[in-house]
Amino acid sequence: MSERKKIVFATGNAHKMVEIRAILGDLYDVVSMKEAGISADIVEDGKTFEENALIKARAVAKIAGCMAMADDSGLEVDYLGKMPGIYSARFLGENTDYDIKNRVIIEMVSKAKGAERSARFVCAIACAWPDGREEVVRGTFEGEIAYEQAGPNGFGYDPIFFVPEYGMTSAEMSPEQKNAVSHRGNALRKMRAILSNETEQV
Ligand code: IMP
Repeated sequence: MSERKKIVFATGNAHKMVEIRAILGDLYDVVSMKEAGISADIVEDGKTFEENALIKARAVAKIAGCMAMADDSGLEVDYLGKMPGIYSARFLGENTDYDIKNRVIIEMVSKAKGAERSARFVCAIACAWPDGREEVVRGTFEGEIAYEQAGPNGFGYDPIFFVPEYGMTSAEMSPEQKNAVSHRGNALRKMRAILSNETEQV
């Protein structure tokens, strides 16, 4: 049996590692930067989710000397001109509790009714190889800003992200339900299709 290829995933977020291993774990040995013994302070100064994901993947591929993958994700609230967008993690300050961030967003959209509350999670996944090759894909997850926070699962903005098809927030969905329809799940499945195509050609 051939040895599984390694991918270093540029994140320190344990929730993301679980989602990624669920989708790519059968094809690749996915290790976090910490598990690979890499620490890097990467400045995410791109203007789009795709640019930021590529910046991280390139930097890690260079340090690790193997294939690296990175994501950049966030919440776009249409009523707020797609904010916080690429600034989702930094919104109100990187260390501010999400209970506060979520309450502030609910307040900011309090005058919005029905379809005006539309929002989406966006995720760009980038792959970079030490030889300079790159791939980047985008996945989205459509929903609405809830009137109040609900649900114990997930992380970040999940408690205020209402998913009409499920009649619940993404924090109320099980991890399996969320993976099946989420922005990160969709982007990872697109990237998986690109990578498995390539594995077949080797
Ligand atoms: P990143 O880790 O730099 O990509 O930043 C992601 C930001 O978007 C963080 O603020 C997360 O809380 C938020 N975010 C991304 N994906 C999700 C999700 O699936 N649920 C909740 N919040 C998310």
